[in-house]
Amino acid sequence: MIDTHCHLTFPEFAGRVCEVLDAASRVGVHSAITIATTTADAIRTTELAALHPRLFASAGVHPLYSDKPCDWAQLRRAGEHPKCVAWGELGLDNHYDKPPAAQQRAILEEQLAHIIRWSAEGLAKPIIVHCRKAFADLVPILAATGLPGERFVFHCFTGDSNDVRMALDLGAFISFTGVLTFPGAPEVRAAAKIVPIDRLMVETDSPFLAPQPVRGEWPNEPRFVVHVAAALAQARGEDPIKLNDQLDENAARFFGEMLRQPRMTTR
Ligand SMILES: [Zn+2]
Repeated sequence: MIDTHCHLTFPEFAGRVCEVLDAASRVGVHSAITIATTTADAIRTTELAALHPRLFASAGVHPLYSDKPCDWAQLRRAGEHPKCVAWGELGLDNHYDKPPAAQQRAILEEQLAHIIRWSAEGLAKPIIVHCRKAFADLVPILAATGLPGERFVFHCFTGDSNDVRMALDLGAFISFTGVLTFPGAPEVRAAAKIVPIDRLMVETDSPFLAPQPVRGEWPNEPRFVVHVAAALAQARGEDPIKLNDQLDENAARFFGEMLRQPRMTTR
């Protein structure tokens, strides 16, 4: 299994990343992607990924960090790193009113303009989207980029069936977190049933959102992605082992062959 979205540069994991990745690999989570939230963090995610063979990185500015210092040259440099497998996370968050919507939108549009240019210059990568209560605003912006819809993943999906249909119509992948396991989120489970099996992914969003049955643990960790996958199989009425194989396959198709589970070598 792969934890396709965690934040291992956050202070909760300082000095513990080896331990956390070892604990994950002991329960079958062979790889993880640590996601950037600012341009400076994008340098840190790539540097961290360089230290751990099965850790990969992304480069982007999170909408809730739109008011932090932003250096686009730094972002491009992070994107050139061989272990940087995606742009993002980027998007819009209407759950919080700080930073204000206009500021979130300005950073999003600048960021997408850079990504379109860098993609044309040979740095085409999949894009991790943060969309909270913002589907009607964000989906048209992403569609207008002209980038292929299947290049986007809506991470930490917390919407309902209408929201998921908008994202699927764009052609995007949908990724679920521990929210899928929360008793108070039946609409997220209903949405999960609609997604075609070849467009599903799972993640932890560590250190946030520890899933049932470890809900409330802090920090959440990549090893707990197994609970998200189990809840997804249950919500969809699918065989968990087959679904796990498909989730790995989807992540490798989306993020690249590097994400495939390394084969044991025999000598
Ligand atoms: Zn995140």
